[in-house]
Amino acid sequence: MADAGSFPAVRTTCPYCGVGCGVLARQRPDGSVGIEGDPDHPANFGKLCSKGAALAETLDLDGRLLHPEIMGQRASWDAATELVAHTFRQTIEQHGPDSVAFYVSGQLLTEDYYVANKLMKGFIGSANIDTNSRLCMASSVAGHKRAFGSDTVPVSYQDLEQADLVVLSGSNLAWCHPVLFQRLLAARDARPELKIVVIDPRRTVTAEQADLHLPIRSGGDVALFNGLLFWLLDHGKADFDFITRHTNGAEAAIDAAGGQDLAEIASGTGLSETQLRCFYDLFAEHEKVVTVYSQGVNQAADGTDRVNAIINCHLLTGRIGREGAGPFSVTGQPNAMGGREVGGLANQLAAHMDIENPEHRSLVRDFWCSPTVAATPGLKAVDMFGAVADGRIKAIWIMATNPVVSMPDADVVRDALAACPFVVVSDVERHTDTTDLAHVLLPAAAWGEKDGTVTNSERRISRQRSFLPLPGETRPDWRIICNVAQAMGHGAGFDYADPHAIFDEHARLSDVANQGRRDFDIGGLSGLDQLDYDGLKPVRWPAPKSPESAAQIFSDGHFFTADGKSRFVALRVAAISKPCAGSFILSTGRIRDQWHTMTRTGRSARLSQHLAEPFVEIHPTDAWRLALRPADLVRLSRRGRQYLARVLITDAQQQGILFAPMHWTAQGSSAARVDVLVDDITDPVSGQPALKSTHVRASRLEADWFGFGISLSRPDLRQQVYWATARIETGFRFECASTGPLPITDSTEAFLGFEPDAACEVLNYSDHHRGIYRFALFRKDQLVGAFFCADTAVAVEREWLIGQLGQTITDPAQQHRILAGRPGDGNAGPGAMVCACNNVGAQTITEAISVGANTVRCVGERTGAGTGCGSCQGEIGRMLRHSRKSETV
Ligand code: SF4
Repeated sequence: MADAGSFPAVRTTCPYCGVGCGVLARQRPDGSVGIEGDPDHPANFGKLCSKGAALAETLDLDGRLLHPEIMGQRASWDAATELVAHTFRQTIEQHGPDSVAFYVSGQLLTEDYYVANKLMKGFIGSANIDTNSRLCMASSVAGHKRAFGSDTVPVSYQDLEQADLVVLSGSNLAWCHPVLFQRLLAARDARPELKIVVIDPRRTVTAEQADLHLPIRSGGDVALFNGLLFWLLDHGKADFDFITRHTNGAEAAIDAAGGQDLAEIASGTGLSETQLRCFYDLFAEHEKVVTVYSQGVNQAADGTDRVNAIINCHLLTGRIGREGAGPFSVTGQPNAMGGREVGGLANQLAAHMDIENPEHRSLVRDFWCSPTVAATPGLKAVDMFGAVADGRIKAIWIMATNPVVSMPDADVVRDALAACPFVVVSDVERHTDTTDLAHVLLPAAAWGEKDGTVTNSERRISRQRSFLPLPGETRPDWRIICNVAQAMGHGAGFDYADPHAIFDEHARLSDVANQGRRDFDIGGLSGLDQLDYDGLKPVRWPAPKSPESAAQIFSDGHFFTADGKSRFVALRVAAISKPCAGSFILSTGRIRDQWHTMTRTGRSARLSQHLAEPFVEIHPTDAWRLALRPADLVRLSRRGRQYLARVLITDAQQQGILFAPMHWTAQGSSAARVDVLVDDITDPVSGQPALKSTHVRASRLEADWFGFGISLSRPDLRQQVYWATARIETGFRFECASTGPLPITDSTEAFLGFEPDAACEVLNYSDHHRGIYRFALFRKDQLVGAFFCADTAVAVEREWLIGQLGQTITDPAQQHRILAGRPGDGNAGPGAMVCACNNVGAQTITEAISVGANTVRCVGERTGAGTGCGSCQGEIGRMLRHSRKSETV
């Protein structure tokens, strides 16, 4: 416990991205929770991004799964546990261990992950356990293993700050790892000689703040880094001493890379020769280079090759294992690294040991005293759901994730689960697109209620601590898994009293027969007593029993291969598949203020305002060709499936490429599960799906009317062609559109989600000539809902209206302003949310710019925007540039 401030704080860790920021959570006597960044945590030193700062807004119990359910009916824990254990046992007896599977998540704590993996691989005897981290960084794992012989991330956040050149490849760090990006910008402010290069087909907010942006063609990565490899050799930058003593395979890799001249590389990457020279020279000139890569590299059919193309360049120059240098995969999930450590991927054993290695198998089996250990890798995520679809898997347990939204070919996954004989889901939410298909629902503890450890992108293990009581009948995941294991007859192996006991076993296993043979060693953390575990400070692994062997990893040139040398991988540039005429390449990704499938961030009204409905980014020329105007709706389609969203026309997007967010679900939109469009193509080495290169068609969505509304209740929009809802402080906002007559027939109350109520008074306005219809609903002068409908996109002051919902409005003139959708008296309202930390809208920022705020800092001083976590500074910069451009025009 820390004691800063008026109430004692619990030190814990943010549950969102792989930066792994430390959080101070304070529960006040009135039950509310205060959240701050932990100034002593070495990942963030007190900073939080908009998502972390809004954690307190996601803790309410509305919509939580609080009791076990069997077939939609409340059940006791005993009945649910027995049913799961019995059905899994029976299925295994009848069809063998590979007829069952666990699909787990980077949201699980390491202790949860450890027991899930132990149960599947050591006691059921199958390796059919895979994690949603497969979708995020499996190509990095595979690339590390090919190059280093181990899944080792060799770089720390401090290295990033100490580098002279940071290359961000396929990483929108400003939005996806905001606190790390702010650390990088602060390092550049302090040392302007630090240069940042961004390689990304989109001009993201990260790219806009870089010294050099390379808008690479989708799929050009291997060509770019192969070209760099040869350039470095050609310009005398190869470290032959390092290559000779610490690597294998350099010659073959150089041979494979050297086949293309600059003009060919330019044509393969879509970059100019000048851009290539500039990047190659920068890389050659700087000894201290960190190359950061993320989903843009990993989520590709050649993702592992892309990773190795990057690592090859670091091996050639010996820029690895040194301060301020190395390849750096940053993870999307909060505990993707912890999952890798315990063997949460279908092709790994516990403690970074290998399934294919008989010595490792017998070591783990002896340590666990288990009846068996899976001898072959299990099914990776895409293959796992394929096996559910074709009936090979007959019972699946999904923990803390939502594959019906996040998996490629998501409708096939949905249909497979709907047809699967037995689906168990443990989750914190009652209704997700996946829980709705479960036969058994097991209520799990949420962030703030559970206790254990997580590992962030720089290999730092931190405690996630509970500060809230377990609500309803919820249980921590480790306990749920252990109870099922015991009911299956494996009592002795799962008789843990608490997460501390599990962590101790995990630490001891990492130490067995290790002595520097394996990279993952936290033997020094074994034997902690409860007090030490409770007080564990953030620590990077390796943390062996003898601390002297914990020096910077790879600094001695020793790698975890049979001969101790790292390996170059020879890579040839594959042909890029081009979309057929009239098609686009669709890239999916994340946005600043949402996390995964919104099960947590979607609860925060503040976070839901930045981008409140699903969208598609498209280049102006492509929009013109499709006759799309700003704020139109667009339909993306592929193989009979569709995605409907608002169009965002922007020259930040390349021609021929579209971008759509991965967050929206069937709970909050009519057709915005974008992964229904994505093929189940995977990288052949890592099994990671290619989520950024789907070929789709696009067209304008024709509608007879468009609507915007606000309501204290959740509206019922299921009859409309297009709809999307988002939480606001007092209720819900929604956008919709459809063909045919207006949706308001008999009852405005029912449309807005209310029971018909005689006490309600409706004010309405219609202008058939202009295609306008509006109404506002008051109950005893309180505004409980309003709806605005037109035959084109609705133009009203949305943020101002949202602020009026729930207010008591007695002044008739003000009531009529609600109907007009504008504050009147020349006021413009705050505009769309830009700064989620300080609630500052676009209109407020525009006004500040118009009266002389000409830098991001000035805008911050006048409005507060950008002075919280800093993630919106890129957007403010964009607004400033836009205003300068308009003045010039
Ligand atoms: Fe959480 Fe933001 Fe830190 Fe990521 S950067 S861990 S989302 S506070």
